Amino acid sequence: MQCIDYNRQFRAVVPQGRKLLLHVCCAPCSCGVLPRLEGYEILPYFYNPNIDTRREYDLRAAQFAKLGVQPMIEIYRHGEFTAAVEGLENEPEGGARCRVCIAQRLERAAQKAKEVGADLFCSTLSVSPHKDADFINRTGQALAQKYGVPFLPNDFKKENGFLLSARVSKEKDIYRQDYCGCEFAKKAY
Ligand code: SF4
Repeated sequence: MQCIDYNRQFRAVVPQGRKLLLHVCCAPCSCGVLPRLEGYEILPYFYNPNIDTRREYDLRAAQFAKLGVQPMIEIYRHGEFTAAVEGLENEPEGGARCRVCIAQRLERAAQKAKEVGADLFCSTLSVSPHKDADFINRTGQALAQKYGVPFLPNDFKKENGFLLSARVSKEKDIYRQDYCGCEFAKKAY
């Protein structure tokens, strides 16, 4: 299989003065991504209907204050996620349920980028070793065509991105969840 260097593509994009809508899954992952995006005007966007409870949603959203970041926070609508993954509840993490979940979040991010007039969009999701950057980038690029807002290709876990996220979130005493988000993954831990 061809190995694509997404970070090379990422670095090839000229950042100056460009408004980037950044879908943020959580503050710990954002710690590994934000330092790589200097030069962009970042519009962070928290849309994660996959999170299993309102309490957990609010807890994850509140952690951004420790980074000095104030994302646009979407109303919690877990039903959007459960409806989208109906029939896929027993899929293993990384399988078909996760692809639907990731695509749902990226699609809303693309729509939001268009709504707010962002020049391009991307997501923190690829910083996780459990997330397939190839799928994220292919989906993002398809959504870019659909909504007319370019997608910034990336694989933020590379070049020690995941280690950076772990180190900075520890230094800043940020709550780091021990499950991805949904009730189906939680059962597996
Ligand atoms: S394990 Fe994570 S990515 Fe997969 S469906 Fe659950 S919340 Fe979404």
